[in-house]
Amino acid sequence: MEIIYQICKQVFENQITRKEGIQALVDQQNMNRNSAVIVVNIFVKMMNGERFTRTLSNPLFEYFLENIFLEYGKEKLEAALTALDLHITYIWAKGNPKRRLRLICNMYFEKLRVSTFQSTIESLHDEVEQNEIISYLKRTKSKQEVLAELNSITAREPEIVTINHKAYKRDNKTIALIKIVRDFKCQICQTFIPKSNGEKYIEAAHIIPKHEQGQELPENIILFCPNHHKEFDLGSPNITKKDKSSIEFTLNGKEYKINLSFN
Ligand SMILES: [Zn+2]
Repeated sequence: MEIIYQICKQVFENQITRKEGIQALVDQQNMNRNSAVIVVNIFVKMMNGERFTRTLSNPLFEYFLENIFLEYGKEKLEAALTALDLHITYIWAKGNPKRRLRLICNMYFEKLRVSTFQSTIESLHDEVEQNEIISYLKRTKSKQEVLAELNSITAREPEIVTINHKAYKRDNKTIALIKIVRDFKCQICQTFIPKSNGEKYIEAAHIIPKHEQGQELPENIILFCPNHHKEFDLGSPNITKKDKSSIEFTLNGKEYKINLSFN
């Protein structure tokens, strides 16, 4: 199953063509061509959250769901489950209840629910940590000192740091410093959201995501308003140039050059 998954994944990621993927399944898995076409089509439709009508074995569906979740995270699991749910409904209407597959599907819906809940809690937690650090730094340090601290951050720092006798994630300290230095402004449109308590709301995004080994260093973090954050995540930006001091990318037909250095 692992080889089938790897081949389908390469097709989805455009590392090989659909035709090459099908041929690889025929050659390496002794699959007949018809089945190979079905497997590849179903995998791509699951990744895109689209309905499919042909079916696979339950263990293969389960293997796909597990590995999509592990490698692509909850967004792609959500798409795959939506596709599978539509598929089961379609088959059910034709008189086949697909009970075992329904159970597998529900089990992964539950995993998705738990994971979404955990990441909501985690991001609320991060927001609180960052705001505590921001208010402490604003009370105790000048902007020059904040800037100096930001420029001194290295990958060698421990993951947990202590500030004012409290333990914080290093990443939250880095983001807090960046928010102060950049004055809470979106690096595309220069806006922020004013909160009722007088604070400014702005989001931090990792240019290279953490699950793709993106480093938790200042040059990998960019500030976005919620709109531009979503556009950056969903619009598949094409990064044309990136170094420590700036990043250039095209996104939905527009070109951007954003400063990543601090001064
Ligand atoms: Zn913006």
